[in-house]
Amino acid sequence: MKTLTLGGGIVGLIALGKSGYLAFSMDHFKLSEFRGEHLFLSVGLLTKLDEFRERLGEPVMVSPAKGSMMRWNAPNNSQHKYGRAIDVMLPKTVDFARAFKIAKEVGFTGIGFYPHWRPFPGFHVDVRPTKKVALWGAVNPEREGQRFTTIGEAFSYV
Ligand SMILES: [Zn+2]
Repeated sequence: MKTLTLGGGIVGLIALGKSGYLAFSMDHFKLSEFRGEHLFLSVGLLTKLDEFRERLGEPVMVSPAKGSMMRWNAPNNSQHKYGRAIDVMLPKTVDFARAFKIAKEVGFTGIGFYPHWRPFPGFHVDVRPTKKVALWGAVNPEREGQRFTTIGEAFSYV
């Protein structure tokens, strides 16, 4: 087995058949931020997340909520079941419309905006296999339960 390390800390290993494994690293995230679940997350997802963080130039934190990465018992239509989704939170001072634009540009194929997450608003981003990008919002202004809506309405809360 040979390994090739790119940059800083190793985040994951990509199997390359007989040639061994490729270790890949992220410039803006520490391994520990993924709480061990990096092993199950799509390399494409993590690569895009790092690029999103790079271009945004603002802190991006993995949501501390259970199920923010892998959700083994999720319904089959959840990208969290397949390691293709991650929920991230951004500081309230971030320009969320700009963050959304960057998320689209880096190539996430599913983007949901959640202005009422605590402690910070955030995005669900995923790399579902599709040509048509899925966009949605989910709001919960009165803390009475989350309601899915358009991403436009969700942006009206920030
Ligand atoms: Zn999610």
